[in-house]
Amino acid sequence: MELKRIKKNCNRKQVKAGSAIFGNGNFAVIAGPCAIEGREMLIDTAKHLKLKNTSMLRGGAFKPRTSPYSFQGLEVEGLKYMKEASELTGMPVVTEIMDPRDIDKIYPYTDMFQIGSRNMQNFALLKEVGKYDKPVLLKRGLAATIEDFLFAAEYIAVEGNSDIVLCERGIRGFDSYTRNTLDISAVPLLKELSMLPVIIDPSHGTGLRSLILPMTLAGLAAGADGVMIEVHPCPSQALSDGEQSLDFNDFDRLMEKLLEVESCFKDIRER
Ligand code: PEP
Ligand code: MN
Repeated sequence: MELKRIKKNCNRKQVKAGSAIFGNGNFAVIAGPCAIEGREMLIDTAKHLKLKNTSMLRGGAFKPRTSPYSFQGLEVEGLKYMKEASELTGMPVVTEIMDPRDIDKIYPYTDMFQIGSRNMQNFALLKEVGKYDKPVLLKRGLAATIEDFLFAAEYIAVEGNSDIVLCERGIRGFDSYTRNTLDISAVPLLKELSMLPVIIDPSHGTGLRSLILPMTLAGLAAGADGVMIEVHPCPSQALSDGEQSLDFNDFDRLMEKLLEVESCFKDIRER
């Protein structure tokens, strides 16, 4: 069956989330902690990221955790810190929504809805965000084919909202050295098949801090329109995903490298 709303045509789609621009040559950097753990840590992180010209702040307030006994997120309290960090720095924000019943709760606090891997085929949720006027960051499911992924985006677009950014975040592989296998080939392929911008998440895609810079560069060379990276003021103390989070120094090095090479791949992104 064919895609209708998000199919590749002569124009590539540009998606804006506040001042963050995805597509048409721009390379957006989304960064921030896996979870919003408190006010101070979020504001400190946001201030640092802003200094480095980060496009957008991320942070989970409703967290999809493997175990129900792990930290589940600060929920609306966390969203309030997120809004404060956004107002203080001027950076737009993205946060995950897991349940269609939470949409009105989250809507006032975020510039973009994130639909995580575990919910990529939560069709009720896809349809619900499709009815709203806020862009959606859709992450590839842990075991989703390219077709599953594209049709999940089509579900959102059918409802009227085609401001969608696709995020390749790795799929389950058989090798336990890495948390997932980041499918770099998905980047040019998704851009060949759809008009939507595509970004990569090398943090969840590998699970390993040391692989974030090389994978970011690989994504860039493959035509990615941006990257989403977990950054924490003290990764060893993080309540979730510390081993795949950069500290501020590592993040600065990554941004310096990106500044050096990002423009070399503009023509590939625009294709
Ligand atoms: C996240 O980005 O916070 C997250 C939980 O990622 P994923 O849905 O890709 O596992
Ligand atoms: Mn995480």
